[in-house]
Amino acid sequence: MDPVTLAVGGGLVLLGYLGGLLSRRKRTPEPPLTADCGCGHSLALHDPEAGTCHAQLERMTAHNKYAGTSYEQSQCPCRQYVGPRPIEEFLAPRYLPPA
Ligand SMILES: [Zn+2]
Ligand SMILES: [Zn+2]
Repeated sequence: MDPVTLAVGGGLVLLGYLGGLLSRRKRTPEPPLTADCGCGHSLALHDPEAGTCHAQLERMTAHNKYAGTSYEQSQCPCRQYVGPRPIEEFLAPRYLPPA
């Protein structure tokens, strides 16, 4: 095998590897750079004092062929709790209740 064939072969392997990386990245989108709360909204939408989420949720309330689809705006029920926790929660492991 001459060096040119080796180089082409190596390049093809590299291309395949990069293509695999790209397609894999497409399947699993990268996480957003902003920190998100468990409710899925950005932490910036949360009240730093109360921890309540200010994001508006759209809830479908009705859907029929006469009235169409109507939505109801409601506030996200999340209450991001960032205050101090009871120390027991850190020390005592949580056991499942006996079945
Ligand atoms: Zn939240
Ligand atoms: Zn939220």
